[in-house]
Amino acid sequence: MDKKDIILIHGTDYKNMAKRVLEQANVAEDIGDRNKKVALKPNLVTAKAPSGGATTHSELLAGAIEYLQENGFCDITIMEGSWVGDQTKYAFQAAGYDKVCRQYNIPFVDLQKDSSTEYLAAGMKIRLCDQAAAVDYMINMPVLKGHCQTVITCALKNNKGVIPNSEKRRFHTLGLHKPIAHLNTIARNDFILVDNICGDLDFEEGGNPVVMNRVLGLKDPVLCDAFVCDCMGYSVEDVPYIPLAESLGVGSSDVSNANLIYLNSPTEAEGQFVMTRRVESLARYTAPKDACSACYGSLIYALNRLNDTGMLNKKLPPVAVGQGYQGQDGEIGIGRCTSCFQNSLEGCPPKGAEITQFLMEHWKEKR
Ligand code: SF4
Repeated sequence: MDKKDIILIHGTDYKNMAKRVLEQANVAEDIGDRNKKVALKPNLVTAKAPSGGATTHSELLAGAIEYLQENGFCDITIMEGSWVGDQTKYAFQAAGYDKVCRQYNIPFVDLQKDSSTEYLAAGMKIRLCDQAAAVDYMINMPVLKGHCQTVITCALKNNKGVIPNSEKRRFHTLGLHKPIAHLNTIARNDFILVDNICGDLDFEEGGNPVVMNRVLGLKDPVLCDAFVCDCMGYSVEDVPYIPLAESLGVGSSDVSNANLIYLNSPTEAEGQFVMTRRVESLARYTAPKDACSACYGSLIYALNRLNDTGMLNKKLPPVAVGQGYQGQDGEIGIGRCTSCFQNSLEGCPPKGAEITQFLMEHWKEKR
């Protein structure tokens, strides 16, 4: 797999989606020797079920473990350290990882309890947990979601889980961006399997999940986070640790040259949207008809951005989205299914940043 590749799969059979992404990327070949120590690093920031939008779904761990075991790997570990305010052991149970570990006979390492060693990370001293540093191949499994301080969080920031609590506290005193970028010069990012199932709108600890029903696979954590900015309607300049990590040689933020590999169509993830009141208030500006999760979720992210800029108001015509609009006309819609509309944004699905731009232009005169 090339570092420019971004693998995307849609659906609701999360376990098999994870397996298909790893197969497509040929991760077994990338790891090589079957005796190598392989670890899965999910996001267990807090003790909440993944449906809340904060933590990695256990089905993705199950899929990754099945894939690795079927390919002859036997030294597999799940490891993570929750944020300072929570104990990993409770988060481990709340996310259902105890069942996964029992079913596949896989150990879990609580990195909050691990020893650590100081390393020089591109000129900055940073302590890494010893068991994380001893891994030969790390599969970083972040949740694509918003964050109240860093705007977005995904691959680069997920590596805060492999440092001790004392370092997490120090990172906050240093403003997060610089230490996160430097951390990624020493933390492993051998493969990134992104949980883009229902990450939160703007909080790391969840509460307002946006259903996307999508899983991504990448090799480059900088490209990953730059792509997340596009999906959620931000630019990389809004998230200083991304260009900083790029300048330290961690990866490339050039999404325009990325190679998108779709393993199926977004239509495989149609469905009902369970909304919190906050998401529902944004959904008032939409008119969905058989919308795919990825299209509808992208629209919600874009509306959230427009809400931040004070652009939303009751006079705006609702934005059509969904397969039910194919061949129909109307005022404004997003996605190729609304291509017959007076104003339509192409894409299947279009990204949050594109939708934000499109709605800004078309709603300008309506305000
Ligand atoms: S454009 Fe249509 S088919 Fe494509 S993702 Fe949107 S709703 Fe689904």
